[in-house]
Amino acid sequence: MLERRKIRMYKIAVLAGDGIGPEVMAEAVKVLHAVEKKFDLEFDFLEGLAGGAAIDAYGMPLPESTVKLCEECDAVLFGAVGGPRWDGVEGRLRPERAILGLRKHFGLYANLRPAVLFPALIDASPIKREIVEKLDLLIVRELTGGLYFGTPKGRDESGGKVRAFDTMTYTEHEIERVAHIAFKAAQKRKKRVTSVDKANVLETSRLWREVVEKVARAYADVELCHMYVDNCSMQMVTSPVQFDVILTENTFGDILSDESAVLTGSIGMLPSASLGDKKHYLYEPTHGSAPDIAGTGRANPIACILSASLMLEYSFQAADASTAIKQAVTKALDEGYRTSDIYTGTGKLVSTNEMGDIIARLTERCP
Ligand code: NAD
Repeated sequence: MLERRKIRMYKIAVLAGDGIGPEVMAEAVKVLHAVEKKFDLEFDFLEGLAGGAAIDAYGMPLPESTVKLCEECDAVLFGAVGGPRWDGVEGRLRPERAILGLRKHFGLYANLRPAVLFPALIDASPIKREIVEKLDLLIVRELTGGLYFGTPKGRDESGGKVRAFDTMTYTEHEIERVAHIAFKAAQKRKKRVTSVDKANVLETSRLWREVVEKVARAYADVELCHMYVDNCSMQMVTSPVQFDVILTENTFGDILSDESAVLTGSIGMLPSASLGDKKHYLYEPTHGSAPDIAGTGRANPIACILSASLMLEYSFQAADASTAIKQAVTKALDEGYRTSDIYTGTGKLVSTNEMGDIIARLTERCP
């Protein structure tokens, strides 16, 4: 008797955004189509407007219809938003508000940014081969607390002297929940968490350390160490392969994750996942809308393709399909295909569209 294979069906909200967003998104969707049949998955892609494109259509960066569409879906795949065209709009209507609004609406408090140096790209990294070889780290950044959201914040004036202030706050709960995500991620990797703080100066960091140590007791198989953020930023360029999972608060994570991006050769290679307590997780490349190269076919779609691979892993528990995409990316790079941002004079220079075709084809052929 023929065995009936069960097809798993998922709805994906596709918010391509502005600039190179739609260009890289088209390639990620292409690669997702390539895993459907092979891994018994079926995707329904529902497109929504966000960022500048939504400002043009609705006068706001995150219209209610887009939020509703995301709510109806199992995961959100986001491209990039922004561009000079909307630089003049007032703060609360800026395109970037779309992403902040989604984070807030879906309570996405943990941002995961893997930074992997593909062996074929070692010469694209500005760091010496012997230092950066075998780099494979994951930054888990707290996303909804700390300095960026703490109140009071503002400006005042007294006696003709202007003062500006921001507040850094963290509750035990905020630290605890993101720490669990970091330890769980470490259990699937090399079982090492480096918690990064500034506990020698900041009260929030002292609480951070205390809570992380408490959480660590539930993960006896994971080794925990603490590091001050200034030291960490130095270690990141002098000895980055020592890291497995870096767990840190919002502002430190913002800065350290951009530093990790540089190690891998191009920001066009870096995916990210934002997780929370509800099922609606969001996946996006870490780069912006790159208006300087939009429409030229020079955008690297790999960050967006790898974001789709993270979606398969974290939202759909389809580790086999996720791995197939990662292997296809590795193979495309090993075979010498390069978009202009990672082209160092050797290999085959390809367009955004061609890179997507190649990765989709290799994904279909993965064993
Ligand atoms: P950016 O990441 O868009 O570009 C920085 C540099 O990297 C540019 O030279 C660009 O050409 C290059 N680059 C970025 N992605 C690339 C890719 N996939 N392939 C090849 N090269 C790539 O950052 P920016 O220039 O500071 O910002 C441009 C716009 O994007 C701004 O409006 C900014 O606010 C917005 N932005 C949006 C997001 C987001 O949507 N999450 C994030 C960052 C910046």
